[in-house]
Amino acid sequence: MDFKKTKFGRFMNCRVPASKRYQPTEYEHAANCATHGFWILPSLVGGSVLYFLSVDQWHRTAAWLYGSGLTGLFVTSTLFHTAAWKISHLRNVEQRFHMCDRMAIYFFIAASYSPWLMLRELGPWSCHMRWLIWVMACVGSVYVFFFHERYKLLELLGYVAMGAVPAFVILSMVERAGVCELAVGGVLYVVGVVFFKSDGLVPFAHAIWHLFVAAGASVHYYAIWRYLYLPESMLHTSR
Ligand SMILES: [Zn+2]
Repeated sequence: MDFKKTKFGRFMNCRVPASKRYQPTEYEHAANCATHGFWILPSLVGGSVLYFLSVDQWHRTAAWLYGSGLTGLFVTSTLFHTAAWKISHLRNVEQRFHMCDRMAIYFFIAASYSPWLMLRELGPWSCHMRWLIWVMACVGSVYVFFFHERYKLLELLGYVAMGAVPAFVILSMVERAGVCELAVGGVLYVVGVVFFKSDGLVPFAHAIWHLFVAAGASVHYYAIWRYLYLPESMLHTSR
């Protein structure tokens, strides 16, 4: 379906070649800022709730890492989209914000896995994923620093790998509660990527991608809160 020919066409601009950046319409800029800006406060509150439910140092560290990753993602994304909307003439500044936005995604993925890797019993090999995931986030960030936007497909594959590799470790957990929610969240992110790639084909495609990210993060938050932090769940954790 060609949205450009419908009454929704005015909400988006034409598609651009892969080498160029899509220019969102004013409506799309506003939606991009709002769809992630809205989640800054809830993610701050959510992280704090986990922190106060913590019973030991491991729980507190995991809550702190996860809360920071979650809030950091929405803050950097909102800052970048605001810069792309309001100060796009300052190309260098916008570019820096864009790089921060991309780096935050790597740290967000690492942060999302951290509570599971830190609080659940893992095998002798899989427990190394606790630190390996942060090494992966750093490698991804260094890549963004040097090759930002140069090889877009490679960048996307980097995120998919970072999202999928620790999942195999999680699947090897002795305690299975929460695996289903983790999978549902993962599917939401993957479906969202379809919209991430649909700028100029679907009006508000990027904002829709943001909503899928928020939905995936919400399901993952629920699982962490319920299976790792609620008092009765402590019986199932390794500590
Ligand atoms: Zn975005």
